[in-house]
Amino acid sequence: MPFLIRIKALLNVFISFINNLPRKHFFALIILFVGLLVLSFLPSQSVQNQNIKRQLTLPVASVAKEGYPVAEPIEAEREQYGKPSIDFTGTREIRFVIKEGDSLSNLFQKEGLSAAVLHELQEADKLHLRLGNLVPGQEIKLLVDGDNQLLALKIKIDFANTLSFVLKEGSYVSLLETEKGEWRNSYYQGSVTGSFYVNAKASGLSAGQIQQISGALQEKFDFNRQLRAGDTFHVLVSKQYIDGQYTYDSEVLAVLIKTRQQTYSAFLSEDGRYYDDSGQGLGKAYRRSPLDGRNRISSRFNPKRLHPVTKRIRPHNGTDYAVGVGTKVYSIGDGIVQRAGYHPAAGNYIVIKHGRKYTTRYLHLSKIFVRKGQRIKMGRLIGKSGNTGRSTGPHLHYEFHIYNKPVDSTKVNLPLSQEISKKNKKAFNARRDGFLKEMREI
Ligand SMILES: [Zn+2]
Repeated sequence: MPFLIRIKALLNVFISFINNLPRKHFFALIILFVGLLVLSFLPSQSVQNQNIKRQLTLPVASVAKEGYPVAEPIEAEREQYGKPSIDFTGTREIRFVIKEGDSLSNLFQKEGLSAAVLHELQEADKLHLRLGNLVPGQEIKLLVDGDNQLLALKIKIDFANTLSFVLKEGSYVSLLETEKGEWRNSYYQGSVTGSFYVNAKASGLSAGQIQQISGALQEKFDFNRQLRAGDTFHVLVSKQYIDGQYTYDSEVLAVLIKTRQQTYSAFLSEDGRYYDDSGQGLGKAYRRSPLDGRNRISSRFNPKRLHPVTKRIRPHNGTDYAVGVGTKVYSIGDGIVQRAGYHPAAGNYIVIKHGRKYTTRYLHLSKIFVRKGQRIKMGRLIGKSGNTGRSTGPHLHYEFHIYNKPVDSTKVNLPLSQEISKKNKKAFNARRDGFLKEMREI
């Protein structure tokens, strides 16, 4: 099937190229030199009809889960506008599978789409920051109308994520559909005979999970010096599956290390931090700002900001700090670098995931000191501020997301203290006991 689709896509590109470009020139010449009479003999009608008759066969909308709006944007667009007003005749659908060396700007050029449109898409992508580098194998679908205006673009980013842009009232709206899959818990245990790493690996834990375990307990327990033969470890891991397939996204929920003297424990709270069984934080708490000292805020978080020229709503999803190029930027908490790279609008950027609930983003950087997948501690120097991407001057644009929704970082209720707050104690204890039950410890 994929082979056929590729062939079809290539054919479509070829046909549209032949149809759109040289014929127009050809007609223009005919009109100029031969006149109206000759025009009536030309097969222009059949060329038009060919487009009109083409059927759009697109996948059916995916199912909405847990109240999140999930829709097939191209399909949704047809649903919404297709019935009464917008004429979908003459639209053409273009499909591509990205190959080595392809870029969106090349692709747009090839299809006769303007660079300005691509620019607009990149602006709209500031919310998700997924329209950066294309990876071979990614699939792109474009829906273009008879005037070669882009109506929709859809790109399958990876296994779990599909990014779409749909033209609505003159501007592009972006939508990221994330397959949430199913999180299932697995239990691992073993006893120590030699190195913890080797024993943990033998029990089925991955290198990343072992790193997460030692990171969680590193301030309380020395895995090299304190472990003795016969000590045991017990680990509960949550793993994500999509369509029954493990995505390699996992989280260590609970760890018990039982030595002859005592038991060391770590439980992952909803806030992304590990606490011992009494609710004492094992790592450092979060910090409010990613910069040292006090810095002037040049632009606040504003979901209803209006674009000065177009007067359209262009949300400001972060807080801008007026700092010079080269100012040190730190991670505000423990976490994993989810993405680090370049985006045409955001410049050099870093996304850090602090557990499932919190994510932070740092944009327009001049330097990046971390890489994707790296586990980092609170206060870690991750980069330096700059003026890269589409930026009006040197500053740090900092975003805080809760369950993937941007919120005001200066107002968010962060766990800034070392231990679980009184307010959250009951919920933490219930969560901890749930983990212990699954591990058959209580
Ligand atoms: Zn900003």
